[in-house]
Amino acid sequence: MQISHLGIHESVGAVFPPEQLREALSSIDPNVVVVGDGPAEIAECDAVVTFAHRSALLDSGLKWVHSIQAGYDRFPLSAFEDAGIILTNSTGIHGTSVGESVLGMMLSISRRLHVFSRQQADREWNRPDWNEPFTLQHEPVCVVGLGTLGQGIAKRADAIGMHVTGVRRSAESVPHVREVYANDDLHDAISEARFVALATPLTDATEGLMGAAEFEAMREDAYFINVARGKCADQNALISALESAEIAGAALDVFEEEPLPEESPLWEMDEVVVTPHAAAAEIDYYNHIAELVRENVQHIDADEEVTNRVV
Ligand code: NAD
Repeated sequence: MQISHLGIHESVGAVFPPEQLREALSSIDPNVVVVGDGPAEIAECDAVVTFAHRSALLDSGLKWVHSIQAGYDRFPLSAFEDAGIILTNSTGIHGTSVGESVLGMMLSISRRLHVFSRQQADREWNRPDWNEPFTLQHEPVCVVGLGTLGQGIAKRADAIGMHVTGVRRSAESVPHVREVYANDDLHDAISEARFVALATPLTDATEGLMGAAEFEAMREDAYFINVARGKCADQNALISALESAEIAGAALDVFEEEPLPEESPLWEMDEVVVTPHAAAAEIDYYNHIAELVRENVQHIDADEEVTNRVV
């Protein structure tokens, strides 16, 4: 199979300028062009790199679609399979960015930076109560889902001296994680943690993984962090747990509905940090994508198995 026309769908503009990726791919053989939603434009390509799913991707005779996201829950996998189109994703590139974002969220909470940032907007000089700030050193963090994101979080939390535990489908050991629990022991794993960081893909098995029972199992002084997908947690149960002080707070990058609707109570909660699905954003994002795409163009041209194949 040969890729001679590669399209960059304009939807990648949600993350970086499409032209930036086109430039970065200018050294590869295929003719690389930026394409919009017009079926004719897509039909001229053999492969398309995209952020969003479009139905035109399925009926334009494409050989391969690459998603610039790690999660592929928004792509109709069986339709790709039926159409015989290879779908690849971008897992493997977000460990550093999301790891640093989660470390930042924990530091913001422990050092009260989110409180000071709100105060600054009102020119307020209020020192926190003596017993509010704490240090992350020795604090237990439980990372649920130990793939690229989870290991990126674990590595950075370990580096700062936190006590890192984690949950995965099997209890095999993972670097930087002192104790690994299997899925069945989720409640035991999260019950001791000061921070619970969710980093699983959204699947049938993980939808609502963190619900009322899980928030109840957490410590009252614990914070819930979600960088996975909004639907991996039951958002109403989370809001109830926050309102009834069953848990102390949350740092959330992903939501059941995005953008987070203006009327959501999460915006107003003092101990909730809201970030706009930006935990993985970084200036080099397009370069990481270019590397994955370059590698897979070579694999496809050589009839080899592609990296990060989803379908
Ligand atoms: P990955 O494939 O490298 O890792 C996912 C891990 O989750 C795997 O180790 C898998 O075994 C584990 N897992 C699957 N089901 C599980 C379950 N039921 N319980 C425990 N562990 C389970 O993927 P990744 O690159 O780490 O990304 C994970 C997800 O995070 C993506 O699917 C995406 O939805 C989300 N994500 C969000 C952002 C963001 O900007 N917030 C960025 C990248 C990825």
